[in-house]
Amino acid sequence: MKYLLLLIFLGVVWWVWKKRSVEPLQPPAKRPDPQAEKMVVCAHCGLLLPESDSLAAGADFYCCEAHRQAGSTGRQ
Ligand SMILES: [Zn+2]
Repeated sequence: MKYLLLLIFLGVVWWVWKKRSVEPLQPPAKRPDPQAEKMVVCAHCGLLLPESDSLAAGADFYCCEAHRQAGSTGRQ
């Protein structure tokens, strides 16, 4: 009976150890790529800039307020 308890104890230890060793490593959390931000072109001067830095006017984007007011007529 004493050896049976010891055997069960060793079995539990082995089972826990095996379960821990098999456990897959957590993949590193995916961070949003700062380079993945959408780039837009100023409809007036053609400057490429991040969408968050641009000024939107309808379907067009502009690099600054002056170009937004000037509109897209300056560049053809
Ligand atoms: Zn511009």
